[in-house]
Amino acid sequence: MASVELRGIAKSFGRTTALADVSFTVADGSFFCLLGPSGAGKTTTLKTIAGLAEPDQGTVLFDGVDVGDVEPTHRNVAMCFESYALYPQHNVRDNLASPLRSPRHRRPEAEVVKRVTEVATTLGIDHLLDRKVGALSNGQRQRVALGRVLVRPADAYLLDEPLTHLDAKLRASMRAELKLIARQDGTTTVYVTHDYVEALSLGERIGVLNEGRVIQVGTPQEIWEQP
Ligand code: ADP
Ligand code: ADP
Repeated sequence: MASVELRGIAKSFGRTTALADVSFTVADGSFFCLLGPSGAGKTTTLKTIAGLAEPDQGTVLFDGVDVGDVEPTHRNVAMCFESYALYPQHNVRDNLASPLRSPRHRRPEAEVVKRVTEVATTLGIDHLLDRKVGALSNGQRQRVALGRVLVRPADAYLLDEPLTHLDAKLRASMRAELKLIARQDGTTTVYVTHDYVEALSLGERIGVLNEGRVIQVGTPQEIWEQP
């Protein structure tokens, strides 16, 4: 667990300014929603936190320490992209287990089995453990992708629209589940969404991003009262 702070982050791709000036702080163990329309810079912000995008300007701090010089692979974050990054030819069990079998995070196999079962049960995919990921529906795959994030301890979870492919009913129940998981394991979470309702129902604090700038930060109450 760690607090995550962005100070004056700017990032351009050629002539496109993805981030003009992004600053916010996510308190240790809290759930922060980054809300904004498509193209606002949400994914780029997450990638900057993960070390997958190098900012042109500004600083990223974990627990107050500048991580600019830290190799991205040494940032202990778990990120979930909208585009999954799963192994389609492997079954759900192995997809969920792989973060716990990697050289850096390797756990004893008995613990892997236990943790994978726990996470699969929480996400309602325990009946799919032996199925190949390539044969799953989008919604099922999305839950596997989320499971790969939640399966191991991290300083921060970075979630990029993790519920978009679920139907409305499942999305609502996963929202409730996710809120519970995040509160229980107390991992700092940055959750990206373009969905106002989702941000209000999930975030302890919300940052509103527009055209690469944070235009508002506050509690759901504050965002609700001053949209
Ligand atoms: P969001 O996640 O809010 O939809 P993004 O962070 O994906 O926004 O993108 C912000 C802006 O930066 C968009 O205009 C997008 O097209 C641009 N952008 C993002 N990544 C790249 C990239 N790798 N190359 C060029 N432009 C990019
Ligand atoms: P998301 O929908 O998850 O916000 P996108 O589908 O917009 O992400 O982008 C997928 C990938 O393509 C990301 O790695 C992003 O950085 C990159 N990308 C986004 N916009 C552009 C662009 N205009 N040119 C090149 N790459 C881009």
